[in-house]
Amino acid sequence: MNDLTFSPHPGSDPDLLVRPFPGREEGPQGYLLRLSEVNCLRVSELIQLGIRYDPVWLARHRLLPDPALDPDLRAHVARLAQGLTNTGRIWNHRHARFCPLCLADEPLWRAGWELYFHDVCPRHGVWLVDQCGSCGQPLRWNRDALLRCQCGSDLRQETAKGAPENPRHLSAFLEARLLGRDAVVPVPMEGLDVDQVQRLIRYLGCYMDLGSGAKPLKLRNAGRMEISWSVTALAAEIVFDWPRAFHDSLNRLQESSAGEKTGLRGLFRNAYHYLYKGFREAAFRPLRESFELWLAEHWKGGLARRNRRLPAELLASVQWIPGTVAANQLKISIARLRNLVREGRIDGQESVSTTGRRFLVVRRDQLDQISSQLVGEMSMAAAMEMLGIGKVRMQRILRLLFPSARRTFDKAFLPWCVPRAEVDGLLAIGAHLPVQSIPDEQQVSLGYVFKYWTWSADEIVALVEAVKAGSLVPQAMLNSARGISRWVFETAQLRAWQQRLNKGPPKWVSIPEFARILGVKQQVAYWITQNGLVRAERLGVLKDIGSRIRWEDVERYRQTYVFGREIAEILRCSSRKAARLLAEQGIYPVRGHSAEPSRQLIYARSDEIQRFLVQATGASPGAFKLVRSLGPGDSD
Ligand SMILES: [Zn+2]
Ligand SMILES: [Zn+2]
Repeated sequence: MNDLTFSPHPGSDPDLLVRPFPGREEGPQGYLLRLSEVNCLRVSELIQLGIRYDPVWLARHRLLPDPALDPDLRAHVARLAQGLTNTGRIWNHRHARFCPLCLADEPLWRAGWELYFHDVCPRHGVWLVDQCGSCGQPLRWNRDALLRCQCGSDLRQETAKGAPENPRHLSAFLEARLLGRDAVVPVPMEGLDVDQVQRLIRYLGCYMDLGSGAKPLKLRNAGRMEISWSVTALAAEIVFDWPRAFHDSLNRLQESSAGEKTGLRGLFRNAYHYLYKGFREAAFRPLRESFELWLAEHWKGGLARRNRRLPAELLASVQWIPGTVAANQLKISIARLRNLVREGRIDGQESVSTTGRRFLVVRRDQLDQISSQLVGEMSMAAAMEMLGIGKVRMQRILRLLFPSARRTFDKAFLPWCVPRAEVDGLLAIGAHLPVQSIPDEQQVSLGYVFKYWTWSADEIVALVEAVKAGSLVPQAMLNSARGISRWVFETAQLRAWQQRLNKGPPKWVSIPEFARILGVKQQVAYWITQNGLVRAERLGVLKDIGSRIRWEDVERYRQTYVFGREIAEILRCSSRKAARLLAEQGIYPVRGHSAEPSRQLIYARSDEIQRFLVQATGASPGAFKLVRSLGPGDSD
């Protein structure tokens, strides 16, 4: 390889007859050969003249246009020059390779061709050529002419052989990384530079190859097509089917080594050496994680005994552990663990084997955290017991009382979890109050209210919140009851409080009420909530409770959306015609993810609609009110 950056005569101006500029996709070595050819020199003579592939040097010697004229070209040269200086090992400068079709299109040596493991032409999808079809010799860099073999035959006449798609994508990706352009990025190569991509190709293409022998990564003549094509072909198939193909390869590797002396231990020791020592940069994390996912499965699987002697250092660095191991540590069922993963509370991945076996792995480093969270929760049954609230009532008020309560599973029949701290907080209220065995005549306990007063769930929640806020204070505690049902109030005060509560505007409306307010069918109101046009809060597990909407959110909805029907009223035309007129203005109804409600078009209130109505009706702005102000009375 010639040293393209070293100059023995830094100051002198080489005596060149012709000074062509480099191309914007041209490789450095290819450019020097082209430059030497047009000047009837050899590359070695050019180097002796002090030529350096460096933007400053080339510009000073009139081999680059003024940077202001072609900043892109200068950036290209600067990028490659930097690559030459910093990462010399990415360049395949011992061997020359090319795409005959590209050369026939344009007599330039493309930069990608000078990279290791860039084996396929991204444009034509053919394998690159590095051996002359006439003389049978490897093509040399110290030939005289860019477009001819050292034997004189025309390189553009070489036959190009079609290559598979994945190696082609891989070459396109390598070239794009070199030139700083966009391309399809294979998953494990995200964030890798050219050097890292090449190392990964070498690893996957050699190490995953069953026939590669004892020292698979020792690759002689990696720059020759006859050596490199099989490496890139295998690597490309693996990276573009990630991580499945990677895991399949590891399985095959394991099977093939099962009967041999090295066995699994050897396999893992090598993997450890390469993956954790060779690929220690952060950018290789997806690679290491994929390996750990596979390892965790086999560590746990039928091979567990045999794998017991895995290198300790490998196990220590493994982040993923089998779900069954994690579930045991957390003292929860595997189904519960699976649900924690689904809720995003712990990172996990699940695979399904060809035999249908499900296999879950989770991040070990998150177990401590999740474990402390689980300790902080109690089941709804336990909370009900402690608070002294009956089951049916609790289900109704649970979501209202504990906004952070959650169901342990998605399914309706599975239990809820209540934050222990909130339950404890409620129980602590009134701890200082006098304890009674029977309430006075003018007093009533909350337990009695639960049983005999027909209070709604909202009223009970409001009462608990009022007590928490200190605006309503229990007078004593009843010792025959449990939890908050021990609270004793003055009957008259409680009655008055309830009346005041119901005089104020309603805080919440149900979906049927919401539909009545809007003057639409319930089906439309459900569509509006399902598609998130208004925020609705699901209540409890019981079907008949459904969802409810805050009054402010009803108002907010009214300020944000308008029915096509209302616009039609203003325009004094049919809804259908109004929709057409609006569509002509490029104004379309809101769309949702579920099927649209029949014949009720909903529009976002916008300046365009306002302007259109002003124009269409000839009215002055503000002559009609798109926003009807709503009062609580409207909900009746
Ligand atoms: Zn080509
Ligand atoms: Zn030849």
